[in-house]
Amino acid sequence: MNTNKKVMLIVILMLGALSISTIINVWINFRDFGKITAIDKSNSIAESVRDGLTAHMVTGTMDKRDLFLENMKRHQHVDTLRVIRSQALIQEFGQGTTDIYKYDDIEKNVLRTGEAQTTLKETPTEVLLRVTIPYIATKYGNPNCLSCHTSSKEGDVLGAITMEMDIQDLRHLGIEAIGKTVGILILFFILAILVARHYIKPYVKLFDDLEDGISRAYRGDFSYHVQTSLSNEAGKVAKRLNDLSEIFRFKKTIELDDSKELIYERIAYILKNTFEIQSFALFENHTETNKRKVVQCSEDLRHSPIFNETNLTKCRANRTGLLVNSLEFHEICKTCFMEKREYLCLPFRISSEYSLTLLIYANNPKELLEYKEIVPIITNYLELAEPVLEARFLMHKLEERSLKDGLTGLYNRRFLDQFIEVNLNSEKEFSVMMIDIDFFKQVNDTYGHDVGDTVIKELSSVLQNNIKGSDLAIRYGGEEFLIMLFNTNYDVIEKIATAIKVEFSKKSFKANDKVFNKTLSIGIALYPKDAPKVWQAIKFADVALYEAKETGRNKIVRFEPKMYEEEEF
Ligand code: GH3
Ligand code: MG
Ligand code: MG
Repeated sequence: MNTNKKVMLIVILMLGALSISTIINVWINFRDFGKITAIDKSNSIAESVRDGLTAHMVTGTMDKRDLFLENMKRHQHVDTLRVIRSQALIQEFGQGTTDIYKYDDIEKNVLRTGEAQTTLKETPTEVLLRVTIPYIATKYGNPNCLSCHTSSKEGDVLGAITMEMDIQDLRHLGIEAIGKTVGILILFFILAILVARHYIKPYVKLFDDLEDGISRAYRGDFSYHVQTSLSNEAGKVAKRLNDLSEIFRFKKTIELDDSKELIYERIAYILKNTFEIQSFALFENHTETNKRKVVQCSEDLRHSPIFNETNLTKCRANRTGLLVNSLEFHEICKTCFMEKREYLCLPFRISSEYSLTLLIYANNPKELLEYKEIVPIITNYLELAEPVLEARFLMHKLEERSLKDGLTGLYNRRFLDQFIEVNLNSEKEFSVMMIDIDFFKQVNDTYGHDVGDTVIKELSSVLQNNIKGSDLAIRYGGEEFLIMLFNTNYDVIEKIATAIKVEFSKKSFKANDKVFNKTLSIGIALYPKDAPKVWQAIKFADVALYEAKETGRNKIVRFEPKMYEEEEF
């Protein structure tokens, strides 16, 4: 049986007990009231009979006594009415004409003790009340008893009156009252259950849900979300448990995530869905190079100028290690400043090399203060993510190392293989530039291998200077480099190629007190324009490079099909 049913059962049992005790109480009170009323009536009849008999005695009309008693009986709705004399009275005035029956035990007892006796006989069809009241001699009153009963004294029992009356009517009234009470109780019962259901049910449901949620969490399942309509303290308890379970779920999930990018995605998800933050950006900061980049952001900030600022030294939160709040001073951080918007910047250290900055925008100061309230919980999430992120950074670094060339820091051919496999699909247009230093062997032969290395490094920095973030520069082998550019036309590529060729040719190298320059040959192929397959584009760029070498070097050649045919023969 669940708690809700248990509580309802307890409420019903309590109300049931209350109803039954109320009904019993009403019944007993009615019964007592009926009896007292009947006894009162008997007492007043007894007094009337006594006064009537005294009057008959005084006026000498005792022969009319039976008629008088019969009338009394009829008028007062009494079933039995008889008057008896005490032994002293019989001795003084005789038996009396109508007192020739035998007195019963009650009457004898009343005559002896002078105390009234009442009995109640109840059957399903009648409720019979019998009252026997003594007549006690007294010297008070007018006429007083002792003036006639000369041989009696004050306090003697002169006689008694016995009356029997059916008080069935009172029983009916009692049943009617109980019926009404039951009706009222049923209404109260229904109302009480409805009120109990309305007010107690949400608490009981919350209690059951909490129990369920905690049991599941105990077994390692943090997916349970407690839902409640309560907004008071109980609602806060539910919210806290949900927050806790979200935090643990987050921790469990990110521990199994194999890349930092996935963890950033999870943080963004929590910011958006759990904290309902509409406008935010998460920066990854590299403290060694003093560069920062946006790794996650809300939709509204996708094309925001905050992306352009990559200089980490300008980030106030990172520099100070403190929470930056625009309510303190609106333009407190120039890189986050946005017209008509408030902002919060939360710095978070991951390792000696990496840190994160969370930037949150709000539409007004009130909203910003609400976000400020949840900063400690957000920090909890980031703290849980910290060791996992640190491990992923390390992994990333090792991976990068195996994919990068040690001499130039550019990606190697292994990276190119993976990149083509993971990122390139048939819809992505790109172009390939194959670059080779002319007569490079001479450098090695003339000045030595180290000078040759310097020339290769210099070329790699010329290449990096001339490409954008999304383009790729790869050391393809020896002194041969590959550049991959996306979504550009031939004119743009040719311009970039020319810029590279010119810039490199202007570089002067010093060795053995001599200064020399080197030139480049470049081959270009476009995908899918020149080559229908990805690998073919690379191959054709190489063919164009070969053509450049063949036709005099220090030049840029675009692939043409006839070059490939020529090569094949
Ligand atoms: P070409 O104009 O036809 O390209 O003439 P080349 O002399 O440049 O000929 P090639 O491209 O075949 O020469 C490549 C040379 O580059 C051969 C190799 O010794 C040298 N090389 C390859 N890798 C490195 C390197 O890492 N450092 C140095 N110093 N030399 C390298
Ligand atoms: Mg060469
Ligand atoms: Mg070569």
